[in-house]
Amino acid sequence: MLSNSLIELDRAHLIHPVSSYRSHEATGVRVLKSGKGATLTDVSGRQLLDGFAGLWCVNAGYGQDSIVEAALRQLRELPYATGYFGLGSDPAIRLAARLAELAPGDLNHVYFTLGGSDAVDSTIRFIRYYYHAKGRPQKDQFISVESGYHGSSTAGSGLTALPAFHAGFGVPYSWQHKIPSHYAYRNPVGSHPQAIIAASVAALRAKIAELGAERVAAFYVEPIQGSGGVLVPPPSWLKAMHAVCKEHDVLFVADEVITGFGRVGPLFACEDDDVVPDLMTTAKGLTSGYVPMGAVLMSDRVYNTIADGAGRAAVGHGYTYSAHPVSAAVGLACLDLYENGLLENGRKAGHRLMEGLRALADHPLVGDVRGRGMLAAIELVTDKERKTPLPVEADAGRRIFDRAWDNGLLIRAFAQGVLGYAPPLCCTDADIDGIIERTRTTLDQTL
Ligand code: PLP
Repeated sequence: MLSNSLIELDRAHLIHPVSSYRSHEATGVRVLKSGKGATLTDVSGRQLLDGFAGLWCVNAGYGQDSIVEAALRQLRELPYATGYFGLGSDPAIRLAARLAELAPGDLNHVYFTLGGSDAVDSTIRFIRYYYHAKGRPQKDQFISVESGYHGSSTAGSGLTALPAFHAGFGVPYSWQHKIPSHYAYRNPVGSHPQAIIAASVAALRAKIAELGAERVAAFYVEPIQGSGGVLVPPPSWLKAMHAVCKEHDVLFVADEVITGFGRVGPLFACEDDDVVPDLMTTAKGLTSGYVPMGAVLMSDRVYNTIADGAGRAAVGHGYTYSAHPVSAAVGLACLDLYENGLLENGRKAGHRLMEGLRALADHPLVGDVRGRGMLAAIELVTDKERKTPLPVEADAGRRIFDRAWDNGLLIRAFAQGVLGYAPPLCCTDADIDGIIERTRTTLDQTL
């Protein structure tokens, strides 16, 4: 009963993010009710293993008392404090300091946002300001990678390189450019790591040369591409791209909105390649999705240039909810969890997940298995030899999502027949084994 009336209210009033409005009206909403650990329960009582941590964000899992208590304490004590007028709050200051301590290199300065899109958007504004402060305002061209996702803000959606975020919106803009992705499974240069790295390095050098290094402001990259279908570059790819940026005095921005906070093993994925970006964007696992928050981490050089450039003038960038104290308190509670076993558990669970998914490679539908840590995908094909994608017109992704749901599994089914996995880092062995078993059942039913 309750569920039916909610479905009607949803259909009439709630606009869902990144969805076909008309298809959604036809299928109706599925309403989630509660969660514990890696298990969700919907309003009908159906239990589901959450193989996607909500939207790659609930790293700590559901029902973590320490997070809930930290939020409650802060809500009671001081639910809001602006950062304007030189004011601040205890948790926001402590969270900034802890992030600076934990982040690689000299990423010592933290600007808090409400999520990933406005973190990316903030970097664009900060980078523009940085070059103005340096007296080089002509450095205003931005480069990102095909299949990349950098949010859906007005400016950031153009750095995103997925068609749905462009068509009908008038993006990308003329100052936004792309280089080909490192996607190994279907790469024209083949799948050998050195060939892929060489091709990406050549493409970035060529793009910088085409635009003129004196005009290129920054290069944006996800250490592993998430929304493009979990595309994992070879080891050292990030390092090689970072080196090209250094050669040409181009700022290197690592978008760690998904890959941060233990998703792929270390606290930040950049650590795996020993790369210190000039700016880093984070969100999702920062607060494990319990409350909204994102952050821009900025190197000493970028921060000092902006600060000196502004002198006594205000740097006109800020939100009412920047450094929200409740979000910051939640962020601190999450960091406590990461440092006290959650990262470690995520690493162990990540090995088990990857092993389990690799064992699915013998399934007739599985063309590719890829991932690192608790971020993975399998790519389905109808002919392994020819790598024939599932027919898009049959809405295969949606049908697989529905079947998985019926089997008690929540995963992401990308339109192109890619199944995405990003379970909570708190998963037990039984949770991971359940995700794999339910995937196999779903694939068998799809044959
Ligand atoms: N950057 C990356 C790499 C992301 O994956 C996302 C979201 O998935 C964003 C930015 C945007 O974050 P948000 O959805 O919090 O605005």
